[in-house]
Amino acid sequence: MANVLVLVDHTGGKVRKTTAELLTIARRLGEPVAVYIGDGVQDALPALGQYGATKVIALTDPELSQYLVAPKAEALQQVAAKVEPSAILISSSAEGKEIAARLAVKLESGLITDAVDVQEGPVTTQSVFAGNYTVKAKITHGTPVITVKPNAATPEAAETSPEVEEFDVSISDAAKTARITDSKPREATGRPELTEAAIIVSGGRGTGGDFGPVEAFADSLGAAVGASRAAVDSGWYPHAYQVGQTGKTVSPQLYVAAGISGAIQHRAGMQTSKTIVAINKDEEAPIFELVDFGVVGDLHKVLPAATEDVTKR
Ligand code: FAD
Repeated sequence: MANVLVLVDHTGGKVRKTTAELLTIARRLGEPVAVYIGDGVQDALPALGQYGATKVIALTDPELSQYLVAPKAEALQQVAAKVEPSAILISSSAEGKEIAARLAVKLESGLITDAVDVQEGPVTTQSVFAGNYTVKAKITHGTPVITVKPNAATPEAAETSPEVEEFDVSISDAAKTARITDSKPREATGRPELTEAAIIVSGGRGTGGDFGPVEAFADSLGAAVGASRAAVDSGWYPHAYQVGQTGKTVSPQLYVAAGISGAIQHRAGMQTSKTIVAINKDEEAPIFELVDFGVVGDLHKVLPAATEDVTKR
């Protein structure tokens, strides 16, 4: 079976859920081979083995982490030259997409970004034009390079004991053009990462600036908190949590929109959510056109009541 490369998305050895999803997809296409860049590969092994990586190629050259994406693309090109994979899967993060683009140029391959599904072929599905069209596509030249959005697949465990192979890369001076001078993690909220969360509770202008009920309901469900642009532009919530065309695209199992009207630009970021619930005091609000469940009411009453109900269980 042909090898399928999966670039591991991790923070210091802690593997992100998106990698489990990529490994699950890779198993549909061939033998998943994980490519791990940076320190901490031993910490990552259990998670990679749990989702079926047959081998882990470890790239530990410190220069790969000291510069922005160009050396990583070069390194992946060298791994691809050795492994000759049938496809390369990368998470659709900002960094992932830049690596994928640079890699595709180096490999003279076709590139598909933001796939929401990948099946045998590989045939990808993308949601385009603010979610108004679904496109199926297949790369016709070179090794397919595909970036996949979070939540495109439900991670399925398939226990393996992958061997680790150290891989020496040679990074050109041309790739060392943007050095990282400082890096610090965002303050931890204790909540799941927005694009990875299974449940998201988002607040809009209808919160009137009080995100307390939104956060409390999110915490009762172990959910992430999101926000509409109106809430972000009003300075009520940071931009990192904005959902929509100019924010994050999310596709959780459950999306709760509280005090959000359902503008097309907001829908673009959340309409592929599996179940959508809206709380809005205006029964004519456009968000009700796409919901699975709707509550007409004041979020300041509905959310605390729902929080109490969930907490009691
Ligand atoms: P509103 O449209 O004002 O809706 C507020 C809703 O809250 C109303 O439906 C109201 O009935 C309800 N409400 C009020 N009080 C209560 C209450 N007490 N209880 C319950 N319900 C209540 N928007 C995004 O969200 N994300 C984007 O990424 C984004 N990108 C954009 C890009 C461009 C180029 C443009 C032009 C716009 C973009 N927008 C984006 C903005 C978008 O068009 C809307 O203006 C925005 O989504 C509206 O946010 P909202 O639903 O919170 O506010």
